[in-house]
Parts: sequence; C-alpha cells; structure tokens
Amino acid sequence: MGLFDLFKQRKKEESQAEPQNEVDAARKATLENPDDPSALTKLAGALKRAGEVVEALKHFEKVTSLVPNDPIAHFNYAVTCEEAGDIESALRELARVVELDPEDALAYNHLGAIYIDQSQYAKAEEALRRAVELNPESAIAMNNLGVALKHLDRARDAAFYLDRALALDPSLAQAEIELAEVREKLAAEPKSGKFRKGLSRTKVQFLEWFKPFVGFEVEAGAEFYDGLFDQLVLSDVGSELAAKLIEEIRARARDEGATSATRVIEILRSKLEDILSDTEPIAPFDPNRLNVVMLVGVNGVGKTTMLAKIARHLKEKNLNVLIAAADTFRAAAVDQLKIWAERTGTPIVSGQQGADPAAVVFDAAKAAVARKADVLLIDTAGRLQTKKNLMEELKKIERTITKNAPDANVHHLLCLDANTGQNAISQVELFRSVCRVRGLIINKIDGTARGGAVLAIVKKHRLPILFLGVGENVGDIVEFDAGEFVKAWFSAG
Ligand code: GDP
Ligand code: MG
Repeated sequence: MGLFDLFKQRKKEESQAEPQNEVDAARKATLENPDDPSALTKLAGALKRAGEVVEALKHFEKVTSLVPNDPIAHFNYAVTCEEAGDIESALRELARVVELDPEDALAYNHLGAIYIDQSQYAKAEEALRRAVELNPESAIAMNNLGVALKHLDRARDAAFYLDRALALDPSLAQAEIELAEVREKLAAEPKSGKFRKGLSRTKVQFLEWFKPFVGFEVEAGAEFYDGLFDQLVLSDVGSELAAKLIEEIRARARDEGATSATRVIEILRSKLEDILSDTEPIAPFDPNRLNVVMLVGVNGVGKTTMLAKIARHLKEKNLNVLIAAADTFRAAAVDQLKIWAERTGTPIVSGQQGADPAAVVFDAAKAAVARKADVLLIDTAGRLQTKKNLMEELKKIERTITKNAPDANVHHLLCLDANTGQNAISQVELFRSVCRVRGLIINKIDGTARGGAVLAIVKKHRLPILFLGVGENVGDIVEFDAGEFVKAWFSAG
C-alpha cells in the first residue's frame, strides 16, 4: 500500500470517531503507554480534529523524536505545522519526508502547495513536477502544477496541466476557474508574441541599425542600402540572396517613387514574406489516415526535443499520437523521450540501446495501426556515419513503414539549428540526397541573431517551414507563419 493510500485510509478511520470521546479515549491510552508512537499519533489526530492544534502539534513532534526515521510521523507533523501557520517547520519536516521516502508524491504535492502560497513558483514547479511524475493520476497535483506555471507566466504549459487535472477530476472547481483565466490570457496574447521572443536577437540587431533612419528619406544610391545589405548578411541571409534582394527592393522603390526608409523596409518585408510563402504544399497531418512523421537531421539540432514538443502540440489538438524512439544509438535520447512521453501521457515504443532502429519502427507502425493512431512520430539518430549508411538506415525504416502501414501518409521533416547559419544549406543538400525531405523545422531560433539562413534555404529548395523551436521547454514551439515571422523580425515592441 502506498503512502497516499495509507494516508487516505488513516483519514477515513479518523473521521469516523466522535472528536471529544475520541480525545478522552486516546488520552487514556497514552497515559498507559506514554512513549507509544501509535497511541500518541492517535491522540494528536484526535486533538487536531477537536480543534486543539497546539497540543496536537506537541504530540506529533514527540512522535518524530520517538521514530525519527518514519516518514509518516514527519508528514503528520508537517501538515499540522502547516495548519498552525508554522511554515518554516512544515517545509523542514516535508524535506525530511522526501529525504526518507523520495517516492512520496503526497509530500511533494504539499511542498509545492506551500511554495505557491509563499509565491516561490519556481520551487513549486520543481516539487510539483516530481509529484506529478510519481502520481500521474493525482488531479490535485496536476492542478497545483498548472497554478505554479500560470504564475511563472507559462500560460500554455499551465493550460495543459489544468486541463489534465480536470480530465482526472471534472469536479475540481479550482482547476476550472484557473483554466478559464489562463485561456483568457492565451487568447489575449498576440500571436506574434512567441515569434518575437524567438527572434529577439535578430530583431534587436536589426532595429539598432534601423533606428537612426526612422522617419528619414533615403536616397537611391545612399549608404542606407549598403547598410541594409550588411544587415541581411549579418543575419545570415547569404550575400548572394542579400544582393539580389537589395537590387529588387531598389528597383521597386524607384518604380514607386518611394524614398522613405520605412517604406523601403516595408518592401523588404513583403519580399521576405513572399519567399517564405512560395513553397511546395505539405499536409503532414491528414485527418483521415495514419500520418507518419520522421524527424531527421544531424546530431544536436534538437530533433528529440522537437519531437516531444510536437507530440504535446498535437495532443492539445486531441490527436491520438504515438512516439517511436528509434534513435537507439544514444540511450539518453530514449530515456529523454520516455520522460517526456510519460509527462504528456503519450504512448511510446522504444528498443534497447544498439537495437535496430527499423525493428523499433516495425513495432511502432504495427501499434499505430492497431491503435488507429492519427500520428506516429519517429525520432531518428542524427549521427553522420557515411552517407551510404545513413541512406540505407533511412530507407530501411521507410520500407518497414510501407510494409506495415501501407496507407500511411509519410513525411520526412528536416530539423535545422538556426545557429548553424550558412552551413545549414549543406545539411539540407545532404539530407535531400538520402531521403525525401518534405519540410523544415528550425530550432533554437531563440538564441540566434542569424535567423536569415532559412530564407536562402526556402528560396532555393522551396521547402515549407512547419515549426520553429523557440526554447528548451516542451511548450516552446510555434507553428510557422511567414507573415508573423517577418513581422517579428522587423517590428519593434
Ligand atoms: P538531437 O540530437 O537532434 O535529438 O537534439 P536534442 O533534442 O537532444 O537537443 C540538443 C540540445 O539543444 C539540448 O540541450 C536541447 O535542450 C537544446 N534545444 C533543442 N531545441 C531548442 C530550442 O528551440 N532552443 C534552445 N535554446 N535549445 C534547444
Ligand atoms: Mg536526439
């Protein structure tokens, strides 16, 4: 029996007796056995129910000194301290509980709740994540985690856990209220908020340069265009494309008779938007059949992280998602995914380290068909062995899918790290030569001032961008939108 069940059972037993008679009977028992922890615990419990918290506290404390290694004794003392308003002791005692029993979900939940009351939200998140991990069925813990995240301004993550809390216990009024509040916040948040966050460095760099020109007229041959060219190169658009863009913008400004700097930038914006929108169509999430999405890319570009993000993103849309951890090269990659899968409640198929990735995909494809999954997400190893090996491995995986899920809609999405700059171009070429890359995912946009490389790639290959990774957390994903992307790049505020 787990501690939680014990606690519930004990609560139930305790609540059946009459408070005053109970105190008298318990007092009598402790007179006979003054150092019996069980008798003292009963007395303390009875006193607490009768409203005698201060005296109850004394007995609970004595029990902790009689059985110093009993987590339940410390837990009882802790919650009574909490009730009596002695937060410092409650925290100390709860810390002792989890030291004695690191699997005690209930203690982590109490710790989290106290930290929330104390406005220590980061600490609350840490404790509550543990509580949720240990007891994924606890609606209260999910709710508390949601509340902590709300205060940490992570509205999307908060909504996710509050929603799960309500799914576990639809009568949980607090979760309902909090969820409504968080949803309101989300709806009010401009869609470009995340884009802005993601492109902040690119933006700051550009805006700094642009500031002195705002409101001024620029002459056709002026340094303004040279500066603009430099800015495009600095953000890794590539000198060839930058030169071409400048030429086109200049021509259009001339035709229009436009001379203001602001108008010239507007022309640039619409050019960039055109490039990013002029791509091959893609439909990786067809609602009428199994969709298989394989993430490919070199090591470290953020495939595994993005897979977890997409899994959660699709689950939020109520799609039935299955994960295949086919990067069997790195044991850590499988463990990492398992943790995410557990947190988001997503089923996962994985193999032993060193297992044949195609064997994992074989099991996963069968499971996806049997479960009538909407999407099967496959994480692959990114190690660049020889090109021939890589191609063979990817081909073998694809054959496995075709054999076991012949009607599936299969897409290879290539993940790139925005920091790679122009090198990303050669990665695209490599992967296009070994598999049918249908779309792009750009990760780590948050940490770069070089977001421009994607422009050259999209322009050359006409590959659509599907998602952007804008941070290390599972909520840090944005569905790509050319207009928002360009806006975030160039607009202040
Ligand atoms: P993989 O080798 O392609 O599977 O890459 P991982 O998913 O293991 O990620 C490699 C590292 O990049 C990890 O430390 C991630 O936390 C980090 N990372 C992934 N995506 C992002 C992102 O969008 N922004 C930032 N800042 N870091 C990221
Ligand atoms: Mg990985």
